[in-house]
Amino acid sequence: MPSRVRIIHGTAVSPGLAIGPVHAARAPSQQVATWSVRAEDLDHEVERLHQAIRAASDEMTRRQRLVANQAGEKEAEIFAVHRMVLQDPGALRQVESVVRNQRVNAESGVHALIQRLQASLRQLEGDSVRAYAADIADPWRVVLDTLLAVDNAEFLSAEDSVVIAAAELTPQAVTFLERGRLLAVIAETGGRFSHAAVLARAFGVPCVVGLPGLIGRMERGMIVAVDGDHGTVQLSPSESDTKSFEQRAERRAARQAALKVEANLPAESTDGVRLSVLVNIESLRDLEMFRPEHSDGLGLVRTEFLYMERPQFPSEDEQFRLYRRLMERMVGLPVTLRTLDIGGDKQLSYFKTPKENNPALGWRGIRISLEWQDLLRVQLRAALRAGAGHELRLLLPMVASVEDVIATHKIFDGVRESLAEQGYDQENSVPVGMMVEVPSVLFCLPEMLAHVDFISVGTNDLVQYLLAVDRDNPWVAKLYEPQHPAVMAALQQIATACRKAKKPSSVCGDLACDPALAVLMFGMGFDAVSVAPNFLPEIKYAVRKVSHAEAKELARAAVEARSCAEVKQVVARCRDRIA
Ligand code: PEP
Ligand code: MG
Repeated sequence: MPSRVRIIHGTAVSPGLAIGPVHAARAPSQQVATWSVRAEDLDHEVERLHQAIRAASDEMTRRQRLVANQAGEKEAEIFAVHRMVLQDPGALRQVESVVRNQRVNAESGVHALIQRLQASLRQLEGDSVRAYAADIADPWRVVLDTLLAVDNAEFLSAEDSVVIAAAELTPQAVTFLERGRLLAVIAETGGRFSHAAVLARAFGVPCVVGLPGLIGRMERGMIVAVDGDHGTVQLSPSESDTKSFEQRAERRAARQAALKVEANLPAESTDGVRLSVLVNIESLRDLEMFRPEHSDGLGLVRTEFLYMERPQFPSEDEQFRLYRRLMERMVGLPVTLRTLDIGGDKQLSYFKTPKENNPALGWRGIRISLEWQDLLRVQLRAALRAGAGHELRLLLPMVASVEDVIATHKIFDGVRESLAEQGYDQENSVPVGMMVEVPSVLFCLPEMLAHVDFISVGTNDLVQYLLAVDRDNPWVAKLYEPQHPAVMAALQQIATACRKAKKPSSVCGDLACDPALAVLMFGMGFDAVSVAPNFLPEIKYAVRKVSHAEAKELARAAVEARSCAEVKQVVARCRDRIA
């Protein structure tokens, strides 16, 4: 791509417009982000390098003294050698020339030197010679760490808001900065329905992915305009581009504000049929993003994120207090707690699960809860105690067979009994529902519905399993297509089975955050959708714009579509209708 092309087109992941300075987050697996440096900033970059070398030399003096005191002068000599390595003018010249000639950051120059040293090491014969060469690279690693640490510390202690640019869209990239400072996230690769994408949407942070070569085009402090609605990123916009982008952002904000004013109105179609619109949350902070009375309750509390924010498993009392705060905030409205859904890319740092070749098909969700039953018992006890006097519902993730449900009920009944024996208050009846996200459920639904009180469709996972496309794998992100005839047929089948069994049904996957698709779910016969808080006003507005008869007609057309292109045509028609 010629460098004068200043607008890069990618995939829109989280809607919204944001403009501001960019910061490249450190790439995963020890790679070092390469930034472009403006010609006028090159002297400053070289000075950063010299400062880092001085700091690394000081660090080696410190280590030398420490080792000399603890183990003796001889053992400490290696650090003196390391200091000398850093004084080698040839190596320094090499790094400086990379920085100046390629106009890149000091980290990139040092990284290139380390790679060169390692490459020459591989050509050497004999273990002892290799070990010596490894020592030569080591001091430069300290320089690199110093550069990265100083850069990170300066950045994290700053106050300005920035756009984070990352090699890959990961949960770390989205949570790297406190929410107030995060304007947008842009990434070279990433999936639209990965957990990181779910987080970006939940935070209301615009996000664009599928931008190959992005990091290499970033310059320190460069201004970027991120359009999360259309999936574009404009680098260094001109003054007039900035002005028109800001005007668009203002118009968008005004529209959102207008929708918010109407957010108290029910999602009732022009012919008087209601769709319940509930909210998905990941943390207590999300409760600040909407007015509970504007929603029909919490349709999905992803409790695993409450676990992920802690250094160890939360105790029963800790969970009780958290869940109680949720219930109190949502008083009178249903709160659907999903039991722990870890596994795949949602890992707990303190709960090491075995490395799996196929984590999406592996030890996840209810499978872990049924194996480690005490984990589930503690969670259920906390939930049931917190739910006394409230509208608690429980939701089971990754259910694949009726046996999963029956086994969970058994544990659930045991927990209720022991709480009762211990004199705890609990509700007489707590509805238990299951996520429909594993394709086997489609074929056993009538039987399974007899064992649950409600269902919620997790389209994020259902799509990955139906299409055999890993939602977290950037290499197949283009193949992950919710607007697929198989997905439409599956959704219609689920809605119809639930209607027949008179069991409430909702869609809580991110597909429902798209107003046009939410209208289709309404038309298919789902009773509810559950969406990230910032989508609530728009979804309710969309439903108010159509009649249920129209929504049914559009849904029928989507289910009859024979290709992704045809489904998309129907969705586009629906979008026009509610625009
Ligand atoms: C889903 O799979 O659609 C879902 C709602 O759950 P999660 O995204 O947490 O897997
Ligand atoms: Mg899921």
